[in-house]
Amino acid sequence: MKLKPGDTIGILGGGQLGRMLALAAARLGLRCQVFSPDPDSPAFDVVLNATCAEYADVEALELFANDVDVVTYEFENVPSAAAMVLAAKRPVLPGRNVLETTQDRLTEKDFVTSLGIGTAAYAEVSSVASLREAIMRIGLPAVLKTRRFGYDGKGQAIIRKADDLERVWAELGTKAAILEAFVPFEREISVVAARGADGQVECFDVTENEHQNHILKISRAPAAIPDAVAAEARAIATRIATALNYVGVLAVEMFVVPGKDGPTVLVNETAPRVHNSGHWTLDGASISQFEQHIRAIAGWPLGKPVRHGSVTMTNLIGDEIRDYERWLTVPGATVHLYGKGAPRPGRKMGHVTEVAPLPAKAE
Ligand code: AMP
Repeated sequence: MKLKPGDTIGILGGGQLGRMLALAAARLGLRCQVFSPDPDSPAFDVVLNATCAEYADVEALELFANDVDVVTYEFENVPSAAAMVLAAKRPVLPGRNVLETTQDRLTEKDFVTSLGIGTAAYAEVSSVASLREAIMRIGLPAVLKTRRFGYDGKGQAIIRKADDLERVWAELGTKAAILEAFVPFEREISVVAARGADGQVECFDVTENEHQNHILKISRAPAAIPDAVAAEARAIATRIATALNYVGVLAVEMFVVPGKDGPTVLVNETAPRVHNSGHWTLDGASISQFEQHIRAIAGWPLGKPVRHGSVTMTNLIGDEIRDYERWLTVPGATVHLYGKGAPRPGRKMGHVTEVAPLPAKAE
């Protein structure tokens, strides 16, 4: 399947990722229709047609599918029933197998491990008894995470020696969890990669990520890691994308851990969508992650991204958005505001990119 200019892409989810996908599509002469249950969706502002309905509303999903040529999504928790209804009418890209693998941390870790890729040691946990067993095997400190619906540090708890396990388990409020060894990482990195319908994979430069209160605060590209580690990280993302038969952009979050023969890489998680750590590509590279995703799902050739320099992306979170006028005056800074209403604590309201250009090439 190949879209032509004027065709319409359906996007599930109306947040800033959907908004930036729609803007990238518009530049390529493609239209977007956004489906979101939230009437205040920032993506609604930049498209002509929007569907405001619940993901369980089968009739709304079918009408939406009739209006579009291909369906994609900006968040990984698309209900599988909704994906099934849509897939009966239109291609859904990335495919439903991707949602099944990445929505559940246990399934995802099993999948990554089956490819021979390293992760933190992990175990399934479904009760206090199995939590105790998992701790015996994995040791402490460890990180307990819900298998589903975790993001930005929600649905997870670090367990240390003196902790009351009954209480930690009760507070997590689920019967389906995973315990991971705590990784003493040097730094956190991610690879944003695109895979085209023809199997071609293009990775952006490895990005280094700094979190505050479990929320991404700053991304820097390129990551300050040896070339061999960067090559390993890109190879891992490529292997994951290929094994999933992926079409679109995905992000693989990884830990860089010190080893006696130099640093190595462990996979933390895979996000089957454009990703906050790839926002720097909007201003810092010849093609953005959003355009790559649109090209991939349109069946068009991927771009070969070239970075313009050393790039820093800073998220404007919650009240930090009030500072946008100052950012507008910073030389070289590019400001992105998502058009969201109330700046609640932890809410991603916008971001700023700064690029230190590469020295000019000698003639
Ligand atoms: P996640 O929701 O899995 O992306 O985790 C959010 C953040 O928690 C990560 O970016 C890390 O900073 C931290 N984290 C998650 N898992 C581990 C782990 N096994 N060891 C150490 N830190 C972790």
